[in-house]
Amino acid sequence: MKIEALSYPSHETVLRVTDTEVGLTGFIAIHSTARGPAAGGLRMRAYESEQAALDDVLALSRGMTLKNAAADLPLGGGKAVILGAPGEKTEAKLRVMGRAIETLGGRYWTAEDMGMSPSDMQVIRQETRFVAGLPDGPYASGDPSPRTARGVFYSLRVAAERRFGTRDLVGRTVAIQGLGHVGWHLAKLLRAAGAELIVSDIDMERAEQAAFTFGAKAVAPGEILMAPADILAPCAIGGIITEEVAAKMPARLICGAANNQLSSDTAGDILHDRGILYAPDYVANGGGIINVAAEILHIEDRMQFVSDRLTALERMMAHILDTAARSGAAPHRVADRIVAERLASTDEAA
Ligand code: NAD
Repeated sequence: MKIEALSYPSHETVLRVTDTEVGLTGFIAIHSTARGPAAGGLRMRAYESEQAALDDVLALSRGMTLKNAAADLPLGGGKAVILGAPGEKTEAKLRVMGRAIETLGGRYWTAEDMGMSPSDMQVIRQETRFVAGLPDGPYASGDPSPRTARGVFYSLRVAAERRFGTRDLVGRTVAIQGLGHVGWHLAKLLRAAGAELIVSDIDMERAEQAAFTFGAKAVAPGEILMAPADILAPCAIGGIITEEVAAKMPARLICGAANNQLSSDTAGDILHDRGILYAPDYVANGGGIINVAAEILHIEDRMQFVSDRLTALERMMAHILDTAARSGAAPHRVADRIVAERLASTDEAA
């Protein structure tokens, strides 16, 4: 295993982890430990290039600082990525990442993200203490996705109330992009609340299965962003709301689980100018890290902790959207400002 420290003024620590024997290239980025140990998942993805993976881990770890602060957790922001399709995952690669995480001595805690499962975290556990989202053991929190979906659902209702005047979802059409761990659970919650669903996944079988299970309409991956829906719920990948999409998309509200949905702040401004309400992603999708935090922080009554924090997160979303509405500013900018103020007060208190 070789660990190289890269220097980025925006981040506290960035490590490039390689092991030629097991064929691993990965990165670990700690954006901030100001509020506590950096926490954020490990992602495995077939990136186009090493630079693309590095850009992703830098943006995602910064996003975790914001997300953890928005959820008022005593945690900083970090993230790790492994280059390669999840099908190329091996125990040896996971163990090397685990050893690299252990060298940070608890400044970074990992958990599952895209391409990872609780059983992968068990493998990593063999090499480091600083892993959560485990399927068993003391304080184990398992798969965070159901809690993420629940948090998104709460945020979506809060945003619907602001955008449509009611949080009632009966008869509202929601387009869901991505029917993985979170998207599937969200589909279930939305359907139970009476929403009509349009679904899409690059795995067409998965989309068809969702269409069958939820009485939804399945569309091709290229069509979902322009689908005739009231609400768009991005639950696949980031960067999908480009300026072009923002200028043309028909939905009136965006609320989903994917990280970094806006490809730029300008895209968010275009949504705002068009009267499309954007529920900031790192607030909407905080349920998963709340679940993981209960494990990291050794919370005795996890269910109560998660429930209280999800309620607080819902209030945070309402506060952001109401502040945005009062000031006429776009919600993504208001969220960044409110969370920056919370981070600044942490710095002052330190
Ligand atoms: P996942 O890997 O289980 O599911 C993603 C799904 O999206 C897969 O079914 C995949 O085939 C599909 N997909 C990928 N690209 C697509 C595209 N272009 N169009 C349509 N479908 C596409 O991931 P997940 O755990 O469900 O997470 C979904 C998103 O939410 C990710 O961006 C993740 O970072 C974010 N998120 C997840 C959690 C969590 O608790 N799992 C927490 C916070 C944020």
